[in-house]
Amino acid sequence: MTPPASNFLQRARVLTRDLRHRDLIQTALGKYEVKRDEMKARFQDWEGARAAAAAIKAEAIGRLDQHLETFAARLEARGAKVHWAPHAEAARQIIVGICRDRQARTIVKSKAMTAEEIHLNEALEGAGFEVVESDLGEFIVQLRGEAPYHIVFPAMHLTRGEIRDLFARKLGDAPSDNPEELTMVARRVLRQKYLAADMGITGANFAIAETGMISVTENEGNARLTAALPRTMITLVGIEKVLPRLADLALFLPMLATVGAGQLLSGYNTLYGGPRQPGEPDGPEEFHVVLLDNQRSAILADPEQRDALHCIRCGACLNVCPIFRHVGGQTYGTTYPGPIGAVITPHLRGLQEWKHLPFASSLCGACTEACPVKIDLHHHLLQHRRNARAQRPVWWEKLAFRAFAAVVNHPALWRLSLALGRLGQKAHGLVRGTRLDPAYAWTQSREMPRLAPQSFKQWWRQRSANRAGRDAGTGPDAAGP
Ligand code: SF4
Repeated sequence: MTPPASNFLQRARVLTRDLRHRDLIQTALGKYEVKRDEMKARFQDWEGARAAAAAIKAEAIGRLDQHLETFAARLEARGAKVHWAPHAEAARQIIVGICRDRQARTIVKSKAMTAEEIHLNEALEGAGFEVVESDLGEFIVQLRGEAPYHIVFPAMHLTRGEIRDLFARKLGDAPSDNPEELTMVARRVLRQKYLAADMGITGANFAIAETGMISVTENEGNARLTAALPRTMITLVGIEKVLPRLADLALFLPMLATVGAGQLLSGYNTLYGGPRQPGEPDGPEEFHVVLLDNQRSAILADPEQRDALHCIRCGACLNVCPIFRHVGGQTYGTTYPGPIGAVITPHLRGLQEWKHLPFASSLCGACTEACPVKIDLHHHLLQHRRNARAQRPVWWEKLAFRAFAAVVNHPALWRLSLALGRLGQKAHGLVRGTRLDPAYAWTQSREMPRLAPQSFKQWWRQRSANRAGRDAGTGPDAAGP
């Protein structure tokens, strides 16, 4: 099997040169940025809202065990069944087991990144169930047999024409590339699936400890149908989704809509508190909630990176990340792409195998600035780099840094290296862009940074000499470097 780092490099090499892909993503994210900024401006104090959200998440995660117990007890008091899944395999077994016990055949599913994380669809399909994604973007990528491109916009890498061709091929129905008509095609297919489904599976945006309720926010109404029509509903929730109080949603729902999709509020915001109660006209007869740990406790035990559990999966850090915007979401080969993916994937799947993700960053800090809950993302990337090298030092890096330290600590060596560097730069100019260029892979798509023609000291000395000469009426005007 190809190592994840090689896969990442191969895919990134292709996509960074794909101008069509770049144009598509930049256009989509350009529109998103305009709407996001309009909505942010509606907050009286956006920075104050971020600070409040970070404090609430810190409170929730700081007493996670108590909040989870309260959440589970309140939910079970209304007839729901709560399952605790320490890892992905346990969660898959619980869900497949419920589906088998109910003799289900068709399962409709609304968007759930936790389900992607544990490869739930593959497990259910492997056990003989038909699984249909009901979110339009997820439905499209499922038809293509690929993973979502983005946490919030799973099919943002596709044009209308590509979706029309896909529907024509897979569904035999694609009247035009008009988005409304294409949506109607998907809707007709999905309505039949809802009616036939024995089981509905959803994710959760938040789990409210105070009331024992699941909060789901969406724009298509598909999660509501997924919950309301089948007889059995299963919700898969990462344990970090807890919020202490119902009132916290007053901040988190508009915040998530603002940075997630540039909306004031999502179209549908629903709370689920258990199975259908006597006298209620709809809702599932059975309601199961699977609480997924899957290494979240290990993140909780890491005092440096605990705040990664504050993530509300809004996707804002992906949208501003220069790496994500060039290499695209599927290049990461992980459930969670972009900066948050580079922080949590090494926890979920192992630091040594996934350390290339923290290294694939310019450390510009745009992600940290964009994060509504103030996760210190770019510092966590640095910590992963440090930890990865501390676990497995790389001899040539150590040697290189020792040499660098020696050079910068000895002025004569420093001057010599600058002189050699300038000479090397001139020589490089003769072969740049040819096969003789030792930096060919780099200069094919980027400019080689140039050394300044003189050092600051040389420039300062020359400037002082020029000034002295000018004051004496003999020298030229001082010139900058
Ligand atoms: S890390 Fe922050 S910006 Fe990124 S998805 Fe999570 S909450 Fe959103």
